[in-house]
Amino acid sequence: MNVKAMMREFGIRPSKRLGQHFLIDESPLAAMIEAAELKDDDGVLEIGPGLGVLTLKLGRLVRKVVAVEKDPALFPVLEKLTGKYKNICLLNEDVLKLDLEKVAKEHFDGKFKVVANLPYYITSPILMKIVENRHLIEMAVIMVQKEVAERLSARPGTRDYGILSIAVQLYADVDLICQVGRSAFLPPPKVESAVVRLKLRELPSVNIEDEKMFFRVVEAAFGERRKTVKNSLKSRLSLPSDEIREALKKAGIDENRRAETLKIEEFAALSREIAKIIIKNIE
Ligand code: SAM
Repeated sequence: MNVKAMMREFGIRPSKRLGQHFLIDESPLAAMIEAAELKDDDGVLEIGPGLGVLTLKLGRLVRKVVAVEKDPALFPVLEKLTGKYKNICLLNEDVLKLDLEKVAKEHFDGKFKVVANLPYYITSPILMKIVENRHLIEMAVIMVQKEVAERLSARPGTRDYGILSIAVQLYADVDLICQVGRSAFLPPPKVESAVVRLKLRELPSVNIEDEKMFFRVVEAAFGERRKTVKNSLKSRLSLPSDEIREALKKAGIDENRRAETLKIEEFAALSREIAKIIIKNIE
C-alpha cells in the first residue's frame, strides 16, 4: 500500500510538531539500505518509523529491528503494518529518553546500526546521543536536513566546517551518501535533505588528553568566526596575547589563521598548549 493510501485508510494527518514527513520515493530508501551495508545477522535501531516504509524493508533484511516511535496515534497503525514480522519490535517512546544500553542488552547481540529518516527538530540531540553511545553503535545511516549533512561532512577550509563537523568527525568517519529533494516526502518539508553515514569509532581520531579543554578551545576559536584564532581565543578565553601567541607557535599554527582552516589534530595540539598555560597560571 502506498503512503497516501495508508494515510487515507488510517485517517492520519501528519503532525508538523513531530516532524512527520513520510518518504514516498523508493530511491532514497534504496540508497539508505545500501549505505548501511546490512548483513542478515545485524541488529538495527530505527528512530521514527512513521508508517513503516523503511521498517518493513529492514525487517526483511536483518535479524532484529527495534523501531522507536513517539506518536501514539501512529503506533496502532505500525503494529498492524508490521504484525507479520516477528523480528520487528516497536517501542512507543521518545528516542531522547530511550536507554540505549538497555535496548542493546535486551534486543541486540553486540553492536547495532542506526538507520533512520530523522525528525529534523531534534537532529542535534539525536546526533549527540549517537556519538555518546558509540561503544554500542557501529554505524548510523540517517536522513537529515541538507545543511546539516554538509556541516557534518565538511572539511577544514570550507564554509560549512565548524563545531558540529569537529564534534562528530572526532568519533566518526562521515560520508555524504546522496541528496534528497523535497518531493521525495509527503508532505514535502520546507528544506532539502540528504543521507549521511557515520561509521563510529570508540576512540577519537586524534589523541586528546582532555576532551573538555579541547571543546573549550574549539568553541572559543569559532566564537568569533571573522577573527583570527589568536584574537578569538584572546577575547573568549581571557588569556594574554603573548601567551596565546606562544601556544599557537608551539602547536605549529600561524597566528593569522582562522578557526575554519584548522584540522582536528591542530585543535588537539593547540588545546594541549592552552591547557599547559592555564595550569601554569594557576600554580
Ligand atoms: N520513517 C518514516 C519515513 O521515512 O517515512 C517517518 C520519518 S518522519 C521524518 C520522522 C518520524 O519520527 C515521525 O514518524 C515522528 O512521529 C517520529 N518522531 C518524532 N519525534 C520523535 C521522538 N522524540 N522519538 C521517536 N520518534 C519521533
